[in-house]
Amino acid sequence: EAYTYLLDEPHLKVEVGYQVEVSLGRRIASGFVVARYEELLTRDKFPYQLKPISGETAPIRSFHPEQLEFFKWISDYYGEPLGSVIDVAVPPSVEPKLRREIHILQRSVESLRGAKEREVMAAILDSSTFAELQRRFRHVLPVLRRLEEKGFIHLRNEELVELPFETTPSASWAKPEVTLNPAQAAATQSIVAAIQTGQFSPFLLHGVTGSGKTEVYLESIRAALDAGKGALIIVPEIALTPQLIDRFRARLGNEVAILHSALSKRQRWTSWRSLLEGSSRVAIGARSGIFAPVPNLGLIIVDEEHDSSYKQGEGLRYNARDLALVLAKMRRCPVVLGSATPSLESYHHARETKRYTCLSLPGRHQAELAQIAVVDMNRERPWTVASKHISVPLAEALKGALDRKEQSFVLYNRRGFASYLQCDCCEAVIECENCSVTMTLHRSENTLLCHYCNLSMVTPTLCSACNGERSETGEQKPGALVERGAGTEQIYEEIMALFPHARVERLDRDTAQDHESYRSILQRLRDGQIDILVGTQMIAKGHDLPNVTVVGVADCDIGLHLPDFRSSERVFQLLTQAAGRAGRGDRPGTVILQSRVPRHPSLVMTARSSYSEFAELELSNRRATGYPPFSRLLRLILSSQEKELPVQILRRFREHLENLRPHLSQEFSILGPSPAPIRRIKTLWRSHMLVKSESATTINRILHELLKLDLRTTRARFSYDVDPQDML
Ligand code: ADP
Ligand code: ZN
Repeated sequence: EAYTYLLDEPHLKVEVGYQVEVSLGRRIASGFVVARYEELLTRDKFPYQLKPISGETAPIRSFHPEQLEFFKWISDYYGEPLGSVIDVAVPPSVEPKLRREIHILQRSVESLRGAKEREVMAAILDSSTFAELQRRFRHVLPVLRRLEEKGFIHLRNEELVELPFETTPSASWAKPEVTLNPAQAAATQSIVAAIQTGQFSPFLLHGVTGSGKTEVYLESIRAALDAGKGALIIVPEIALTPQLIDRFRARLGNEVAILHSALSKRQRWTSWRSLLEGSSRVAIGARSGIFAPVPNLGLIIVDEEHDSSYKQGEGLRYNARDLALVLAKMRRCPVVLGSATPSLESYHHARETKRYTCLSLPGRHQAELAQIAVVDMNRERPWTVASKHISVPLAEALKGALDRKEQSFVLYNRRGFASYLQCDCCEAVIECENCSVTMTLHRSENTLLCHYCNLSMVTPTLCSACNGERSETGEQKPGALVERGAGTEQIYEEIMALFPHARVERLDRDTAQDHESYRSILQRLRDGQIDILVGTQMIAKGHDLPNVTVVGVADCDIGLHLPDFRSSERVFQLLTQAAGRAGRGDRPGTVILQSRVPRHPSLVMTARSSYSEFAELELSNRRATGYPPFSRLLRLILSSQEKELPVQILRRFREHLENLRPHLSQEFSILGPSPAPIRRIKTLWRSHMLVKSESATTINRILHELLKLDLRTTRARFSYDVDPQDML
């Protein structure tokens, strides 16, 4: 909500982008200035008395005035109030932490008369800090003040700065200068030309993993800096590793500000402020880095642009990749979307509509692409496999790597042990009682865990849903619960059993709960202390490890059969990214894909390393069904304790939209309402409806029409998602 206040204290510096304190009703609230009227507003414009801005706390500069246009665009497009957008975008300011600094003005002790003054001064000349003096002398402050009065020293409060990284980048990750190969040089040249002319120019930088995209980014950023402009790079949260940060800092110096969720509030504000004040001109961040106040923005880079973590899943459901394009257009600068497996949206715009310029890096800088083999798990029998989930070819590949002292990755994209418990009699699967999803078994804690609401329970042994069968003796017993499916824990144990002497570790959200543990696993991997790393999709992303030569995917089919039109695309991306981890050094790589649907295009095209074939095929499916990139979507989700209410409300929405149809210039279609694939989350029943249109403007009109309806009922929750990524 925007309110108007009076600025009656002329000494206060208040402009658009400042954070101020005002009284709102009976309380003091903090707000952001979004407009400033220079002339005194007349009484007839404002029939009520304006309250003044509080002069007690100094207004704090929080964002650039030019960012407001961007925030307003986001507010309109995603249908969220401007205030919520600014809240998400701008980090809260943090009071500076001060440290007293002593500056010596006169290097002498002799002329001082008091014994204590002499002693303290001697300690100062011996380069004691304020804190040390405090520890050594009692009541040192009055003594220091006297020394200051006499002109021996000068006391100053200096701000203690907490940087989000150790001060010097460790040299190990930082390659010195490289000479770009011809493809890299050509790509860089196009980007640099666009930086210099200052035009909106979107690029798709398509190059397999290891083809040297990051080198292109680094050179382009340097060109932006040389042209006196700033640059913004966003990367998936998980890729924001110390190695990557060091690589950027080693090449670009200390003008790099880091923004991500693991920073403390103070670190985040320090980074933000250094951009705002212009002492940093390059920002690297995860999703929310897109809001960074980079001074004189001249280049935006979105690395791994296909990554689904760019979409925020709740609240303001923005997509940082899409916003990068919007921002580049506003600032008239180039934007580079980089990926080995571009989203079909981006690929389509590069190939078909020609809205983006396609730059490709055809091969790996040095190494060859890995050999990829598919193992048909339907043909495997218990007596032909090495262990339950590991086929003989995979076991042999792992053994070969061990013998050659090389490293391997085994991907299994589901955490926990056995995925679920199923009754061997009635086939019932244990589901969360709040959410209609299967509970996951975590054997090391002997619990069943819901991965949505975190509900956990001690693992039961007997089925409560059935009475079982009557046995020959006439006894009736409920069915026994058996483990079905698998998770990283189980694969880990199987591999340990197959290779008892190997050093095997696990990487998933359970073993890497914070940046620190994630970092330490990667460090051990680099130091050669891990032979085989078993993990979820976390192992597929961004690591550049020359000694990894074997990658196995224990079950490629996870995620393939989800009711989501992007499921094939996501699996293809994951498999291709995982395969790209193998053989990045000078030794060739081997990839083994295990699947029960070996002829699925996602697998076949991964094995052929043919992104473009996959993209063309999948795009023809999308065209036929009218899904993005051939349409825009708006997803409406209603959830309630009452099972039927969500559908009823959605039906009313539908009627309303049908009545609106004649007033809208563009066509649209409505799918649903229908029960959401995940029927219940946290005890709430869910239904959804999809609105499809070729026109983004129509989608926007429809969204605002729905928001205008008075939907306020405490019995149901309404959420809406523009350009949804998540269809469950
Ligand atoms: P990508 O970002 O596409 O995965 P990188 O930029 O990380 O690829 O490059 C992969 C590896 O090849 C890195 O170790 C990088 O330093 C090296 N590399 C890339 N381009 C060159 C080059 N022109 N000269 C020397 N080494 C290069
Ligand atoms: Zn649950």
